[in-house]
Amino acid sequence: MPLQQLRQHGQFLALSRQQPNLFASPIEFSLDDGTQVYIRSPGIISFTPSKPEGKDIVLSSGVHGNETAPIEICDELVQGLLTGQFSARHRVLFLFGNLPAMDIGERFVEENMNRLFSGAHSKGPGLVNAERVRAKELEDAVADFYQQGEWIGQNYRCHYDLHTAIRGSKNEKFAVYPYRHGQPWKKSQLQFLFACGVNTFLLSNGPTTTFSYYSSNEFGADAFTVELGKVAAFGENDMSRFAQVRETLLALISQDEVALPGYDPNALHVFRINQVINRTKEDFRLNFADDAPNFTDFPLDYVLAEEEGVQYKVQEQGEAIVFPNAKVAIGQRALLTVVPTSL
Ligand SMILES: [Zn+2]
Repeated sequence: MPLQQLRQHGQFLALSRQQPNLFASPIEFSLDDGTQVYIRSPGIISFTPSKPEGKDIVLSSGVHGNETAPIEICDELVQGLLTGQFSARHRVLFLFGNLPAMDIGERFVEENMNRLFSGAHSKGPGLVNAERVRAKELEDAVADFYQQGEWIGQNYRCHYDLHTAIRGSKNEKFAVYPYRHGQPWKKSQLQFLFACGVNTFLLSNGPTTTFSYYSSNEFGADAFTVELGKVAAFGENDMSRFAQVRETLLALISQDEVALPGYDPNALHVFRINQVINRTKEDFRLNFADDAPNFTDFPLDYVLAEEEGVQYKVQEQGEAIVFPNAKVAIGQRALLTVVPTSL
């Protein structure tokens, strides 16, 4: 029954959420076009065409459970592949991250999953909650997927971890480029993301425990955390605002190569991270409006945040705020600041 339902309606995500036991052990089957489908566990599905072209593509969504637009985009792509609406030319792995958080419409149940990668899930208290267990499971799925690709001679890896931001942004769609340990930033990747409607990029300045850094650092994948707009409930997204990213991801999967616009530095906003401000005290507070959009800049010496004994000030011209959140746990990042740069 489930297999037929999957192939007729493609409702992999719905079944993963409503009847996870169906996928308690792995399932493998093939589609009419010869594509092999492998369901590793609830929310984790991969497609291997009979003659794959060289790319191993990972698309993750729902690492934060209430960031629905990317989940809906990936759900639709999975449906299209399962029902034969289109075919994959490359191997592709879809990961729907935090299923329990989706069910309660929250960012997470116990812990922010996007701080648990590169082994962070097993440090400190260890695998003590569902998010930590799932982060490890997602890591293992990516590792196995890329490993299997290597065995059959695949020669390119990418991973787009799709999110929406909690707050509005002056630059609605933006991407975080994980730290590259001195390797060059790739203009071709900025072109690809520009085709997805992303015009703003943040170059990271050090290792992190995000999902995209894991794939970039451990597997040499072109990986990004991609923020596609503002959080809304399931079914309440204006999907026309996501048409470009949906079409470009479909092209990535279903075409040998994606035709990209030329690199136009004037169309892109590139920032480097200047300050990472952690909340270290109980009385940590941000010194700007709660709803200040991402990429709002402040004048030199403006006090952005303060806590007992310390003030965090603007240090450079054009310095802007990203991801402010005064309510994070003590020791976690409460604010990033960025300054304009170029590649
Ligand atoms: Zn997110």
